[in-house]
Amino acid sequence: MVYPPKTLVVGRCSRCGRRLYLYEDRYVCKKSGYVLCDVCARKMQYKCPDGYTPLELV
Ligand SMILES: [Zn+2]
Repeated sequence: MVYPPKTLVVGRCSRCGRRLYLYEDRYVCKKSGYVLCDVCARKMQYKCPDGYTPLELV
């Protein structure tokens, strides 16, 4: 098993804490600075924690 190099980790999901990799879709809320993984973004219905600002796909 080959582990991806650390340089591919771009941060952690603000909600579930999962590591986010460069090649994955991730979502940011520019307003609050939240970064969410694909799964959490879907659960949040692609909205920021404030409930109305749309998340942006990075
Ligand atoms: Zn997450």
